Amino acid sequence: MIKKDFPILRETVNGKPLVWFDNAATTQKPQSVIDRIAYFYEHENSNIHRAAHELAARASDAYEAAREKVKTFLNASSVNEIVFVRGATEGINLVAQSWGDHNLVAGDEIIVSNLEHHANIVPWKRLADKKGLKLRVIPVDDDGQILLDEYSKLLNSKTRLVAFTQVSNALGTVTPAKEIVKMAHAVGAKVLIDGAQSVSHMKVDVQDLNPDWLVFSGHKLFGPTGIGALYGKEELLNEMEPYQAGGNMIQDVTFEEIKYHKAPNRFEAGTGNIADAIGLGAAIDYVTKLGIDAIGQYEHQLLDYATKLLKEIPGVRLIGTAKNKASVLSFNLQGYTNDQVGQALNREGVAVRTGHHCAQPILRRMGVETTVRPSLAFYNTTEDVDTFIKTLWELKKVRF
Ligand code: PLP
Repeated sequence: MIKKDFPILRETVNGKPLVWFDNAATTQKPQSVIDRIAYFYEHENSNIHRAAHELAARASDAYEAAREKVKTFLNASSVNEIVFVRGATEGINLVAQSWGDHNLVAGDEIIVSNLEHHANIVPWKRLADKKGLKLRVIPVDDDGQILLDEYSKLLNSKTRLVAFTQVSNALGTVTPAKEIVKMAHAVGAKVLIDGAQSVSHMKVDVQDLNPDWLVFSGHKLFGPTGIGALYGKEELLNEMEPYQAGGNMIQDVTFEEIKYHKAPNRFEAGTGNIADAIGLGAAIDYVTKLGIDAIGQYEHQLLDYATKLLKEIPGVRLIGTAKNKASVLSFNLQGYTNDQVGQALNREGVAVRTGHHCAQPILRRMGVETTVRPSLAFYNTTEDVDTFIKTLWELKKVRF
């Protein structure tokens, strides 16, 4: 039923119906999102300078309505806490530069987890190298679960920031986010949650989780590429230095002095991605209509179904066996390279990612360089899983 809402899922690949199992990389878009973006260009397109004319008012209203939708989706206290950015990567870089570069000094410590995507490692490592900070890493157990005891040993009065993912893109581990935040705040550290892999699978409530910042990407939430959001506590955002400078983000400019807007405009220099922000708003409407809790429950059952069948195949090694997982099934198949498995699946129309998934440290911790990574979304079905499993059994019959 739900598949009908996604025109691309009617595509065939190698003569077979497309099975989209690359949802952790990017998700497909429902017709309502595609239509909303087209409607913007057909009826509303303008830069957002409210007072100028009718179309400017339409574009500004639609853009700010999208911000309101993100605010409600995350349960933020105010629209002023929602900054539109290109995606999770830009959100993290914004915090690293606007807050980290201006507030951290040599000897300060930043903690990340071993599970992080490169987007939540590289900006902090660069900052650490530039400023003489210490980057510390929360270890995981052999199932890929955060070791909270080890984490507590890393926390001290020099800890200024804990930056971690709520769901691992490589293993699917769901981290104990609320606990991690609480423990960081207890030593006075700030916290950034990478919500890139969580917002599409579970309710993410920033007032309940209580991070200082949270980032996500629209394209992993059934919205367009090139748009995402940074949530930040309002007071904190207003204390932070601007990220980029130019039009839109200033209150007043003279050659002697510049006065900046407060958040969020303070961080939205230049013409932003107006159409895609509005498209993201439509994606949030779509997900909200389905119900994020219902989505989570359905996907959980599908993940259990797929995990059970995958484990029955001889020679499959599942990488990432945490008790609490979302969406992701990373594995290796004995006798085949990951690329060979990916190509065999592609011949049957099944799209999976193979490689290091921009998370090399965690894959190396699990003793591998790369995996095959199917990742599920609510539009996937048990029939999709059956096609995937059948292909792996056929590979197994050829070798061993
Ligand atoms: N964080 C996690 C956990 C991710 O999985 C990804 C993308 O795969 C990112 C951050 C970066 O997202 P983007 O490339 O949309 O900025």
